Amino acid sequence: MKIETIAIHEGNKSDSSDKAVIQPITLSTTFERGRDGNYPGGHIYTRASNPNRTSLENVVAKLEQGTDAAAFSSGNAAGSAVFQALEPGSHIIAPEDMYHGLRNLLKQVYAGVLEVDFVDLTNQSLVRESVKENTKLIWIETPSNPLLRVTDISGICSIAKEMNVLVCCDNTFATPVFQLPLNLGADLVMHSSTKYMGGHSDVLGGILITKELTPFWSKIRDVQTLSGAVPSPFDCYMIVRGIKTLPYRMRGHAENARRIASFLDAHPSVDKVYYPGLVQHEMHEVAASQMSDFGGMMSFTIHGSEEKARDTASKLKIFTQATSLGGVESLVEHRASVEGPDTKTPVNLLRLSVGLEHIDDLIADLDQAL
Ligand SMILES: *Cc1c(COP(=O)(O)O)cnc(C)c1O
Repeated sequence: MKIETIAIHEGNKSDSSDKAVIQPITLSTTFERGRDGNYPGGHIYTRASNPNRTSLENVVAKLEQGTDAAAFSSGNAAGSAVFQALEPGSHIIAPEDMYHGLRNLLKQVYAGVLEVDFVDLTNQSLVRESVKENTKLIWIETPSNPLLRVTDISGICSIAKEMNVLVCCDNTFATPVFQLPLNLGADLVMHSSTKYMGGHSDVLGGILITKELTPFWSKIRDVQTLSGAVPSPFDCYMIVRGIKTLPYRMRGHAENARRIASFLDAHPSVDKVYYPGLVQHEMHEVAASQMSDFGGMMSFTIHGSEEKARDTASKLKIFTQATSLGGVESLVEHRASVEGPDTKTPVNLLRLSVGLEHIDDLIADLDQAL
């Protein structure tokens, strides 16, 4: 089946006796045993599994063309499960511009447990040189947040294979609609389903997808069900609901983003536009080879100071000044001030999460603010 059909049907297992078309939310934390002591419904206790979570995991595993998926209460909890599944003392190679929440997780919570080097993943010889005896994982994030840098997934995965290192790819920005890292050699994919999958800025979630059922995947399952950072049945229902329109929403986001990128690129107040769909983007060719479209996220720098950038953001009326991304409504964010003092993000940079409003209204809004 094609992605639109999978998105609508795969996460909808309705077996209720009242023939509901949409799978109901199963709030029960516990499930009845049969007389033989087995569990005929396939579930025991909701921390271990729940019908709504199983449906979410099934649809996302299919969308990413993986074998299995494990859902978590947030994107960071999903990332954390991968780190927890590694042996203590393992070395991780992570992108130098890793999503700052995961970067801080590694630096603050896993300090002393895991070794991490933050490396420029667009430099493949540097990645190769950074692999050590205890390197167990390379973490990719592409396109990256907020500079929209693009990592060559196949290139990094072939180095990793050679060195016997796992690769996990944060696919939050691209979504499986535009990029399938498991088909490019990654072992695991991670999402903040808070973003495009949920799609409406009203539910937090994270998910991991595996290419194969390996012992490492079993450890991740153990971390999920024993640590218990699992999403509620309602959260799972909301994300499954969002996923039904994901392919259509992504096309709309990408189309609006393409138009805005061209508009900003031609605007005299704009210094540089960071959008992998622009042919002048440094990594456009790599992006075009591994993505079927370029998504709805972009950043741009403004001629002038931090104050000028913040002032422009505050003048926008349709774009709301807020963090996060991937919702139907457009957001703008002064990223450096969110990321803190050790950020490499330019202070005159604004990040846009381009929503699904009419393109003419979005461009008019940017025009009046600039
Ligand atoms: C938001 C985000 C995360 C973290 O997800 P949460 O759901 O906020 O925990 C990880 N990676 C990327 C690229 C993100 O945008």
